Amino acid sequence: MVEKRAEIGIIGGSGLYDPEIVEQVEEVKLYTPYGLPSDFIITGKIEGRGVAFIPRHGRKHQIPPHTINYRANIWALKELGVTRVISISAVGSLREDYKPGDFVCTDQFIDMTKNRIYTFYDGPVVAHVSMADPFCPELRKVCIETAKKLGIVIHEAGTYICIEGPRFSTRAESRLWRKFDADIIGMTLVPEVNLAREARMCFVNIAMVTDYDVWAEKPVTAHEVAKVMSENIDKVKKLLYEMIPRIPAERKCKCSSYLDEALM
Ligand SMILES: [Zn+2]
Repeated sequence: MVEKRAEIGIIGGSGLYDPEIVEQVEEVKLYTPYGLPSDFIITGKIEGRGVAFIPRHGRKHQIPPHTINYRANIWALKELGVTRVISISAVGSLREDYKPGDFVCTDQFIDMTKNRIYTFYDGPVVAHVSMADPFCPELRKVCIETAKKLGIVIHEAGTYICIEGPRFSTRAESRLWRKFDADIIGMTLVPEVNLAREARMCFVNIAMVTDYDVWAEKPVTAHEVAKVMSENIDKVKKLLYEMIPRIPAERKCKCSSYLDEALM
């Protein structure tokens, strides 16, 4: 048995973890029935709340989006006691008014991935989990309110189109995503978000816009993305450390019970 030491899980870049602000820091290596998570998990406390960090791409950024072991990451957080997940991701913008440097509290997604493992339920037990409202309303509220208080530009809604990657879109694809009414584009939200729901967790996605996707006729390079990312890292850290203590202790949302209606 793993000690239930964390209630809030953070999945994101390795630069998010700050030993100055996190107390009682420990590194945990966990094995799961699905294999190893992306890296060691860092656990600790922020204002008395137990937190666990997973660097999604590994701490040396060595795991591309399509080979991340999403099931192992969610399973490991669950083992540590996590009931709320805050997912941080870098995204491209599909609209003029979502500018590089802005944050988006994603409220819908479109799945255009092709080759991932999307469920913990491979049979004989089958689960068709509801995804009509994919994100936790309580966590979204705390996130948006805290960001506004800190003066961070955050868009309160956005549809995230998740592509397989690791390549960026063609111009034709990017124009198509805009016709789909998608607002932002990334490679990692699916299946992280649906696995969390199967694990009865609350989930919120904080998307940081790093660039305009290729529709804007300003072709993006990985270097430009990295530059905006590093400028944003302090903002997202501040947001996390202010928002975590504001998360209500008790869950009043539906997130823990979707699975009951999903199992066949
Ligand atoms: Zn919830």
